Order: sequence, then structure tokens, then C-alpha cells
Amino acid sequence: MLSVRGLSVRYGRSVRALDGVDVEVPADGVLAVLGGNGAGKSTLLRAVSGTLKLHRGTITAGEIRVDGERIDRLDPAVVVRRGVVAVPEGRQVFARMTVEDNLRAGGLGARSAADRAAARQRVHDLFPVLAERAGQRAGLLSGGEQQMLAIGRALMSAPRLLLLDEPSLGLAPQMVGRIATIIREIHAQGTVVVLVEQNATMALRVADHAAVLEVGRVALSGPADELAASDDVQRLYLGGH
Ligand code: ATP
Repeated sequence: MLSVRGLSVRYGRSVRALDGVDVEVPADGVLAVLGGNGAGKSTLLRAVSGTLKLHRGTITAGEIRVDGERIDRLDPAVVVRRGVVAVPEGRQVFARMTVEDNLRAGGLGARSAADRAAARQRVHDLFPVLAERAGQRAGLLSGGEQQMLAIGRALMSAPRLLLLDEPSLGLAPQMVGRIATIIREIHAQGTVVVLVEQNATMALRVADHAAVLEVGRVALSGPADELAASDDVQRLYLGGH
């Protein structure tokens, strides 16, 4: 469904953030992208969502396709219309706006009022707290609730592919578990998910496939359960020996 081939990205002249990255995500899978600080995980998501330019990054080689169609030269708004939506790191909800208005902003591109209503219903079913707090300012939500709102807002445009950058960052373990369950549910409803995580334990539990990035290259990839069992992943990312 998502196919990344030979992708290289630079920031400015000197920073090579990705170097010949190949990643395939089948339509029936959640992909986890793992790796340490600066490995290039966020850069990969920015490249797919078309937002690299906002960070002064450029694709210098390779291509990105969704269902066979190239998306690597499109503007971010066009990428969204092709059904690819990202939830960037740090949540970034509109803190002064109500929960409901945040969701509405996510649904502005919907084709019809009926589509918008269906998307809102789906979001409220997944995250009942967003219905309960509809009139409250988003900035008053807890960190976990804000993460839910950020994901809910992305779902308002009914994406085919959802890109999540570190959704578990800074959340209490119980909330991480809830987010994990919701990611599986979103996937079960037919949305392909790419999940970037430093929390490898959570990511490998949720994902079907995984890729490990190391300084801009794919060091390992395969079924998530095989990676979870590998000695290198155990040692480097799961705290094993
Ligand atoms: P983290 O988990 O710390 O966010 P990451 O795996 O997501 O790390 P990236 O943020 O993609 O890594 O960064 C990859 C490399 O590109 C790093 O060397 C980083 O310093 C560099 N980089 C990222 N964004 C920029 C930018 N806007 N300008 C210059 N260099 C950048």
C-alpha cells in the first residue's frame, strides 16, 4: 500500500538524514519504525506526508508511492487529499480552541456533510472522552487526551494511511496501553498505520511489521514478532541482554 524506495533526504547542504531507505507497508498491516534519537524516523514520516519543506528538508533520491501512485512531489494538502494524514510528534492540538472545533478543523477537507458526520461518529466511538469534552478548550485536556484528540482530528479526513510520530511520548503506561489498543482498532477499521516509536515494546506489540532505522538506513526489517525475538533488537531496544 505504501512503498518507499531508495529514499534519501538532506537538510540543508550537510545533514544527510536518510540514505537509500526502502520500506514497504502492505494494506493489511501496521508498520512500526524504530530507532534511536536522530535515526531519521521523523524525517521518514515528513517525507511521506510531504511536509519536509517546512523543515528545510529535500528528497535527493528515491520515490514514495501510495497504492502505486507517486506522492513524493506533492504539496502536503494534496497528500492529505490522497488519503495520507500525519499526527506529528508533540500532539500540537489547537489549545485555545474547543475539542469539537479541533475535530471540525480536521474535517474541513471532507467531501460532504455526511462524510464529516460519519467521521465524527467514528472518532467519538473510538474516543468517547472527546464527545464528553466537546465544548472544552483542548489545552485543558490531559496529555493522553490531547494525543487522542490529535489522532481523532487526523481521522476526521477519513485517511487511508495514518502516520503517527511517537504517540506514546510522555504518557503514563496505562495511557500508552490505551493508545496501543486504539491503534489496533483503527487498523481493524481499514486504515493502514505507520507508527514511529522510541517505545519499542509498545510498538512491536501493536505492529505486524517493523523496520529499525540506524543513522538514516534500514538496519533490520521484517515481521514484528521476529524482530521482537531478535537478539539485536532485544539488546538495543527492549532492554534485554
Ligand atoms: P528523534 O526520535 O530524536 O526525533 P528521529 O529518528 O525522528 O529522532 P529525525 O528527527 O528524523 O530523527 O532526524 C534525523 C537527522 O536529521 C538527525 O541528525 C537530525 O539532527 C537531523 N534533522 C532533523 N530535522 C532537521 C532540520 N529541520 N534541520 C537540520 N537537521 C535536521
